[in-house]
Amino acid sequence: MNPISIAVVGVGKIARDQHLPSIHNNPGYRLVAAASRHGSVDGVENFTAIEDMLAAMPEIEAVSLCMPPRVRFDAAYKALEAGKHVFLEKPPGATLSEVAILEALAQQKNVTLFTSWHSRFGPAVEPARAFLADKTIRRVDIIWNEDVRRWHPNQDWIWEAGGLGVFDPGINALSIMTHILPMPVFVTRSTLEIPENRDAPIAAQIDFQSASGIPVTADMDWRRQSSDDRWDIIVETDAGTMILGNGGARLSVDGVMRADEQETEYPTLYARFHDLVRAGRSEVDVAPLRHIADIFMLGSRKTVEAFYD
Ligand code: NAP
Repeated sequence: MNPISIAVVGVGKIARDQHLPSIHNNPGYRLVAAASRHGSVDGVENFTAIEDMLAAMPEIEAVSLCMPPRVRFDAAYKALEAGKHVFLEKPPGATLSEVAILEALAQQKNVTLFTSWHSRFGPAVEPARAFLADKTIRRVDIIWNEDVRRWHPNQDWIWEAGGLGVFDPGINALSIMTHILPMPVFVTRSTLEIPENRDAPIAAQIDFQSASGIPVTADMDWRRQSSDDRWDIIVETDAGTMILGNGGARLSVDGVMRADEQETEYPTLYARFHDLVRAGRSEVDVAPLRHIADIFMLGSRKTVEAFYD
């Protein structure tokens, strides 16, 4: 079967770090174009706007949308309308309603829509899910702390309304949580710490619970030194304390290491997208984004010190 002709839209950090190498290394794809206002990709056709690219290159079968969430809907809508398969970076949109519109359009056009959640493809995530499947869970604590200056330098969009602030990485934790826990949970309380000169939170503390009252807490904080970066989910069970660490790459139970693997998230994501396209299916899951919406709905706001890059 011929490789899928694909284009990348929004050539920024994640496109360069992960999407382009993953596409390049997967024989199931052929990168044919890129659309970005400032960025470009060597060796393919480059455009500054997605609509120009779609008009000029009807051979494009699929697009990966790697721009910030606030501007993803427009591009996704245009691509789906043009009959292209669409790979959405996380979060799949700035609102739940826009993703519902995209899902319906993909169905109507008979093309694939993929809401990718890269952290779910961390190598220790499936082992963690399998471990928890038959355990009694007593409590869950999520610690998602990082140095924003290291990971998001000069990303103004991330601090704007809809940019999600600390939830840009924090939603990765929720994407894992919603995948590995055998029961659903809901938000009961949240505190959003918002710098006085920004619209999005720099830190947040969240309480969730399951229907039977199992507590889940999340501490997300961008004000750490990079030496204190921590992306851990700690689950107390009847069979010991499970720590899914390093953003989903490492798994231990009562201190005994069960998995500690190299990251392969994006190659696996592209393999999944390929399978979906070939099978004529979509995969649309908004569970992590729904939690973020609930966190904002219940959130008490605390104004904190201004943040400057
Ligand atoms: P980024 O470095 O800022 O790149 C995004 C690109 O989108 C920009 O370079 C820009 O390219 C384009 N863009 C189009 N409209 C834009 C607008 N209104 N404002 C800003 N940029 C705009 O961001 P990123 O880190 O790659 O993140 C992009 C998406 O990937 C986000 O949803 C993020 O959550 C997700 N993601 C990021 C990472 C990471 O480690 N950085 C990891 C996983 C997922 P042009 O100016 O050339 O158009």
